[in-house]
Amino acid sequence: MNDFIFSKTDKIIVLTGAGISAESGIKTFRDSNGLWENHRVEDVATPQAFKKNPVLVWNFYKQRYYQSLKAQPNNGHKALIELEMKLQDNFTLITQNVDNLHSKAGSKNIIEMHGSLNKCFCIKCQTRYSVSDINLEREIPLCPKCNNYLRPDIVWFGEIPYNLDLIEQKLKEVTIFISIGTSGQVYPAAQFIAISKLQGAKTIGINLLPPQNKNTMDYFFQGKAGELLPSLIKEWCKNI
Ligand code: NAD
Ligand code: ZN
Repeated sequence: MNDFIFSKTDKIIVLTGAGISAESGIKTFRDSNGLWENHRVEDVATPQAFKKNPVLVWNFYKQRYYQSLKAQPNNGHKALIELEMKLQDNFTLITQNVDNLHSKAGSKNIIEMHGSLNKCFCIKCQTRYSVSDINLEREIPLCPKCNNYLRPDIVWFGEIPYNLDLIEQKLKEVTIFISIGTSGQVYPAAQFIAISKLQGAKTIGINLLPPQNKNTMDYFFQGKAGELLPSLIKEWCKNI
């Protein structure tokens, strides 16, 4: 099924998107109807939306938070643990997801470039809190330190993703880049694979439907991550 296998010296980056969590019951947005759980992205995932209607935005993320607490990692998340155990420091997991399922599955080094539903921060003093430590019953939760509004620690459209310096550093060394469950439409994440390819890395995509950046993939496997990943990873790692 593959004409190559990984070696211990490969430097592997895995980028995941909403698709890897679909089999855990968390909806993606682009395949269904272009909406995120029935909301237009502009209404819930932009700084302008929060300014205009913080109650609506908080309600949306509270729901996403409670949903993520109940969700369980699937075989796709779990298969990546095997890769991390084999490659150790040569493995980097970058996720666009905010649902915490990779760490629930046991992944250790995760770059959550779009933030996390588990966290929030004060728009005034910037203090970060674990969502489990704040009073979610308030329509707009307040900062325990300075009493100003808290906001979800989510990178909204128009904001700069986290850890781009670290990601840039990792992209300089990558020899194999694997993109999983992402439609390839959210930048800058969507261009990491092209950058890797330009530097000579092998590039692999696993997605239910062909993503927008499929032309940057040397190998494309169409299907569900939870069904494909366990056997693909076993095969790729058989010499490690
Ligand atoms: P997307 O919704 O744009 O695309 C999801 C992709 O996953 C699609 O290409 C689809 O074909 C594919 N897919 C669906 N089910 C799959 C499966 N079982 N296995 C493999 N692939 C499958 O997602 P995106 O590219 O990650 O962009 C969405 C943005 O919205 C991200 O920035 C993310 O932060 C946010 N978001 C996050 C979550 C989450 O944390 N779970 C959910 C929805 C949106
Ligand atoms: Zn504060």
